[in-house]
Amino acid sequence: RAKQTGRGCHRIFEAEMEQVFQMRRLLEQDLRKALIADEFLVHYQPVMDIAHGRITGVEALLRWESPSRGRVSPADFIPFAEEVGLMAEIGDWVLRTACRDALAWPEDMTISVNLSPTQFRRGELAERVAMALAHSGLPATRLELEVTETAMIDDIDHATSILNELRALGVRVALDDFGTGYSSLSFLRNLPFNRIKIDRSFVQDLGVKPEATAIVRAVTAMCHSLNVAVTAEGVETKHQIRLLEEQGCPEVQGFLISRPCPASEVLAWLGKSAERLEGCGLTRFSA
Ligand code: C2E
Ligand code: MG
Ligand code: MG
Ligand code: MG
Repeated sequence: RAKQTGRGCHRIFEAEMEQVFQMRRLLEQDLRKALIADEFLVHYQPVMDIAHGRITGVEALLRWESPSRGRVSPADFIPFAEEVGLMAEIGDWVLRTACRDALAWPEDMTISVNLSPTQFRRGELAERVAMALAHSGLPATRLELEVTETAMIDDIDHATSILNELRALGVRVALDDFGTGYSSLSFLRNLPFNRIKIDRSFVQDLGVKPEATAIVRAVTAMCHSLNVAVTAEGVETKHQIRLLEEQGCPEVQGFLISRPCPASEVLAWLGKSAERLEGCGLTRFSA
């Protein structure tokens, strides 16, 4: 009896595994098609300098409009695309698209592009970046690349040399989702970042958990003394922006300032500075 039950379980397990494999095969096929059929888009989310109410740049965020699946979140398909080896190609496409789109925007605006761990570790990253810049004609100083700790944790020496190669091109590098990894402080001490991005989870806790405020203040102060720029991610309320300003955080990004939007809407949005500042509770600049 026990044996039979065991075998039954085994069969059910096999059937479920088969289903999982089947779903993954389909997703992989769909992703390959998406690249060819032009189903990927890049949206852009502005970054604002709080002290001057100025937009300093935008972050490129990948979108997938699948005819069969609808709009798929990057958080759902990027890890899979990484696993099946498609993220390098998708990432190159994002980089080229972002560099080209950025040419339409003011020259003092930076464009930030996220790099996945495999994109970061794969050889020839600097060459690929240099190529995207050369093809578009975008000056290297306008490009910033965002990397997470996960991409660098396994081999700090290798990560350091990649970051140095990128910086030698004149490109800036940012540490994304700061505070969510395990070795944040040693990262800051050892790696040549130009900016850190304080993760949204800390911003969410501002004014709710006293530790969050203390952490944001400490991180901001540390970055100032290390001469590293700071951006807070995921700002959704006027209260949060005020608390960030009080803690000395110079730049913010989040739904309060703007949701990510298509390239074609960025210029019009930049023009509406009074409405924009009013929406953030920063009316002092609009006079
Ligand atoms: P990220 O780089 O940390 O990007 C910020 C994410 O937070 C974006 O999600 C953005 O839409 C979202 N966000 C911005 N402001 C707010 C806010 O006020 N509230 C909330 N709740 N969320 C906000 P998105 O676009 O879904 O991207 C998720 C992640 O996927 C990104 O996190 C990044 O790690 C990755 N990703 C996106 N595009 C690319 C890409 O082109 N290449 C690579 N390698 N990764 C990408
Ligand atoms: Mg990012
Ligand atoms: Mg982030
Ligand atoms: Mg993130």
